[in-house]
Amino acid sequence: MQHLVEPVGYVRSCFKEKFAIPRQPALAPAARGVLELVPPFDTGEAVQGLEQASHVWLLFLFHQALEQSPRLKVRPPRLGGNRSVGVFATRATHRPNGIGQSVVRLERVEPGRLYLSGIDLLDGTPVLDIKPYVPYADHVAQAHNHMAAAAPQQVTVGWEAAALAAAAAHGQRLGEPLVALIEQCLAQDPRPAYQVPPPQRRYGVRLWDVDVRWHYPHAAHIQVLEVLANPA
Ligand code: SAM
Repeated sequence: MQHLVEPVGYVRSCFKEKFAIPRQPALAPAARGVLELVPPFDTGEAVQGLEQASHVWLLFLFHQALEQSPRLKVRPPRLGGNRSVGVFATRATHRPNGIGQSVVRLERVEPGRLYLSGIDLLDGTPVLDIKPYVPYADHVAQAHNHMAAAAPQQVTVGWEAAALAAAAAHGQRLGEPLVALIEQCLAQDPRPAYQVPPPQRRYGVRLWDVDVRWHYPHAAHIQVLEVLANPA
């Protein structure tokens, strides 16, 4: 059976590239974005009543990870990137039909726009459907997953004084909690699991319109070196 699906909207997100996006929603509450609905969903009718829910499920397309032939096994970062398991045992981005799902906080509803936080979505992500989170049905108190029993281990994050001042200033300009966003995302330790970088190795990512640069003075600590405007 084939069935054509079309996006109901697109996410405008703080995340401009895949690197350093948390691996699940809610890990970075300061990660914010706006879901902009497209016609005919942009008039307000389709979201009437949705403001009664604190969270929504988003079903979306991993539009930057779509592939022609489906993978049956994947190597999730969770297992160190070197053990393969069945694709349906994971939340990997490379999957049949390329569909992702995230529970995110719904901060505000406007006609044609949903303001979201705690997102793990790339800028431009096409959203296929939106459903309100229903606590009594969706929260499973006794649930377990032995492969992903707890949130990933975090690293500590420190700042060069000038980088912290720049992040605070850019946050004020953007009207966004940029210092918290950087700390929450870097604490997830975005480097690939198998990499043990030398202290001189620099990493970088673009969040909103700023470039953030850091290094690992030792394995479990990130030092933020620079936060620079990059309007491009
Ligand atoms: N919560 C979702 C799920 O379980 O289906 C996503 C989990 S997936 C492991 C999270 C990763 O997807 C992020 O770290 C980011 O790198 C990647 N990602 C987010 N949006 C994407 C997009 N539109 N296309 C490709 N990759 C994306």
